[in-house]
Amino acid sequence: MERQGFNNKSIDRIRSICEEAGIKLTHQRLEIFKELMNATDHPSAEDIHVRLQKRIPTVALDTVYRTLATFDELGITRKLHLANKRNLFDVNLTQHHHFVCDRCRKVEDIYWPDFDKATLPETVVGIGKVRSRHLELHGLCNTCLEQNKE
Ligand SMILES: [Zn+2]
Ligand SMILES: [Zn+2]
Repeated sequence: MERQGFNNKSIDRIRSICEEAGIKLTHQRLEIFKELMNATDHPSAEDIHVRLQKRIPTVALDTVYRTLATFDELGITRKLHLANKRNLFDVNLTQHHHFVCDRCRKVEDIYWPDFDKATLPETVVGIGKVRSRHLELHGLCNTCLEQNKE
């Protein structure tokens, strides 16, 4: 499934989630949500802040941090803890993995149903119970590979 972008259905979704949690959907929270839904990358809080300032110059970075933390608790977004990376946010809640370019730091979504369904190795059973699977692939993206040739 591809990213849906921002639409009326996504507004309804966040509205009912906030209502259920007893959280007020303020103008700034809604704007932060819109920015996330329109993002085609995996933005950091700082990225969201910079983009938002074009529309709301008064928005504070701290507000963005706190709102994103709230969204994370409510399951609206997923916080990514990638190796060697700042915290990034993902609105794509469909099961997927990530390709990280080690040169330009771009993070792309990967779908791998076979991996999701694969039987876990015996050693995992001896360690504990797995709740979710997230694979982080590292390498060079095609743009960086092209540049390497030049
Ligand atoms: Zn790259
Ligand atoms: Zn993702």
